[in-house]
Amino acid sequence: MNIHRLADAGWQRLSTLMSGELKPAELVWLASPHQHMSLLTRRRATMIVNRVRLVAFLFAVLTPLWSLVDLVVFPFPLWLNLALMRLLACAAFTSLLLHYRPSGNLFDAYRAMALLFAIPTVFYVASYTLLSHYQLTGVSAAIGAGYAFLPFVLLAGLAVFPLTLLENLVIASPILIAQGIAGSMRWSTLDWPSFAGAFWLLVLITSVSTLASMSQLAFMIALVRQAIRDPLTGIFSRSTGEEVLELQFTIASRSDATLAIAFLDLDHFKGINDKFGHEAGDRALLDMTAIVHSNQRRGDLLARWGGEEFLLIMPNTDMAQAQAALLRMRSTGFGTRPDNTPLTASIGIAERSADRITDWKMLVDLADQRMYQAKQNGRNQIVSGPKTS
Ligand code: GH3
Ligand code: MG
Ligand code: MG
Repeated sequence: MNIHRLADAGWQRLSTLMSGELKPAELVWLASPHQHMSLLTRRRATMIVNRVRLVAFLFAVLTPLWSLVDLVVFPFPLWLNLALMRLLACAAFTSLLLHYRPSGNLFDAYRAMALLFAIPTVFYVASYTLLSHYQLTGVSAAIGAGYAFLPFVLLAGLAVFPLTLLENLVIASPILIAQGIAGSMRWSTLDWPSFAGAFWLLVLITSVSTLASMSQLAFMIALVRQAIRDPLTGIFSRSTGEEVLELQFTIASRSDATLAIAFLDLDHFKGINDKFGHEAGDRALLDMTAIVHSNQRRGDLLARWGGEEFLLIMPNTDMAQAQAALLRMRSTGFGTRPDNTPLTASIGIAERSADRITDWKMLVDLADQRMYQAKQNGRNQIVSGPKTS
């Protein structure tokens, strides 16, 4: 009981350290990726792959450059062997840079990161094995010792990515273990105090870079949250709507399922602003979205597409069902204008399979055209397409 209270208090203290940055429900997202919403996952996956490519580029340039130093300080066969290994590493970094493109898939991002970390790890173990065959003295011994810094660079590199605590631990442990193995390979000659000191330093660097990486994630969560919602109405923003529609379109196309959208544009909305002021217009928008939101079916998504234009995305809905849903919505109404007359909308509906559409943007264009048709037909009405394909 007391321990519980202590843990609670500790957690409270910790969360006040980053007050205002994240909401309480979002704090758990820093621990592991399991509950992340798909939009965050996709953006994070894209960012991770982009960062992997950036770091791969940096290392592809820096790794072979150091051969010049090797050439000066190491005896003949050694520097050549090291130079060949560096060229191999450079080639591996370059192919990672050239062949990996962001897909929005988190497992692709993990694989990219694993490859990025695997290349220098293999290089490190190989060069360490090679160097252990030589009795180096003076400057060359110092440069040889420099090779032992690679794990430090790798672990510090974690700070570049927006990762959860769990992901940081999963990536850092193999590197720490590899360091332990490299040490035990020199068991008899190992200078234990300095090895332990170096290992402790590694652990410290891992902690700091983990903190940096989680801070990046926290920042990203806050940004994604802001980008997801429209600040005035609280419904989804256009960029969210586009991402969701693109995803739903791909899913529907794959299984040849129905996917309907409705484009809504409020009628004579400018008149509200002109006669009653911009604030009255804002209030009307807020009321309208609240009404639509409470009437939409579960699984449908409403996004603010532009000023007084909205897109309702209805997965697994055919043309007839979409029409019925919008008719029901229209009969409930979209709220009232400040002069107590009903606020109406012109609506265009389009459906993937009935309209034989192959691209989500064309689906939006078609719904937009039909909305325009509804305007021309006298407003306050719904225009849709053929009921079957
Ligand atoms: P129509 O029936 O042809 O659609 O006429 P309309 O007046 O609704 O269309 P129009 O596109 O001419 O004007 C849209 C207006 O919506 C213009 C703009 O001032 C207003 N608007 C856009 N965004 C906001 C907003 O966030 N708040 C307020 N108050 N008004 C907005
Ligand atoms: Mg408009
Ligand atoms: Mg309008």
